Amino acid sequence: MIEVSALKKVFGDHTVLRSVDLKVAPGEVVALIGPSGSGKSTLLRCLNLLVVPDGGAVRVGGRSFRFGASASLPGAGELAKFRAATGMVFQQFNLFPHMSALANVMEGPVTVRRMARAQAETLARSLLAKVGLADKAEQYPSRLSGGQKQRVAIARALAMEPAVMLFDEATSALDPELVGEVLGVMQSLAAEGMTMVIVTHEIAFARDVADRVVFLRDGVIHEDGPARQVIDAPREEATRAFLSHFH
Ligand code: ATP
Ligand code: MG
Repeated sequence: MIEVSALKKVFGDHTVLRSVDLKVAPGEVVALIGPSGSGKSTLLRCLNLLVVPDGGAVRVGGRSFRFGASASLPGAGELAKFRAATGMVFQQFNLFPHMSALANVMEGPVTVRRMARAQAETLARSLLAKVGLADKAEQYPSRLSGGQKQRVAIARALAMEPAVMLFDEATSALDPELVGEVLGVMQSLAAEGMTMVIVTHEIAFARDVADRVVFLRDGVIHEDGPARQVIDAPREEATRAFLSHFH
């Protein structure tokens, strides 16, 4: 479903991703963990080309692109289709403040997928119901809690019917008592077979919900294995040292 090979990203004189290889199978849930500045967000953004890599290749679904010397760069139309295949959820919810929850979720289907409004509304209402917000459809973001806003953001990403969902610290900005409701939605998506890459500091969640855990450090994958093995019995000293901060 996702295949990244020899991925490289440089910002100025700082090589943020060195040579990252990562494969994610259809229906697989991969948790990406690692210290601040290790390149987690950059890697996730390379997966939907919000950040353009400097080398290597990225394939999502049937579309693949090469970067660097032998580049095969996407045109604007290709790029839009590629991005539509990846639903991204950020730490900050980035909802449109002047639109209701319903209108936020309908926006992508209507403007990008050119869906008829009635059909988009049916889809949006079913997705809001799926994230437990059927009764908040008419509410504006300023009237929603952080957990509710993040669930609207997840519904909005799902409305594009993406092949994969990418989460970048989706619960880090939430008050502790609101974290569970968002993780619960992510867990049910995983159980439904959605392919997901999740950047998270919720180690217990990564252990219980992810199939695999990937530990990134200084732009290199240091350890990649079954979630429980990496969390409970890491093979690498660096992984062990990182995880010791969470106990
Ligand atoms: P955190 O856990 O703090 O979110 P991260 O693992 O997500 O960290 P990244 O955001 O990927 O780390 O950043 C990796 C490195 O790349 C950092 O040193 C950061 O300062 C740098 N970086 C990220 N984006 C840019 C940018 N647009 N321009 C310049 N440097 C950047
Ligand atoms: Mg980050």
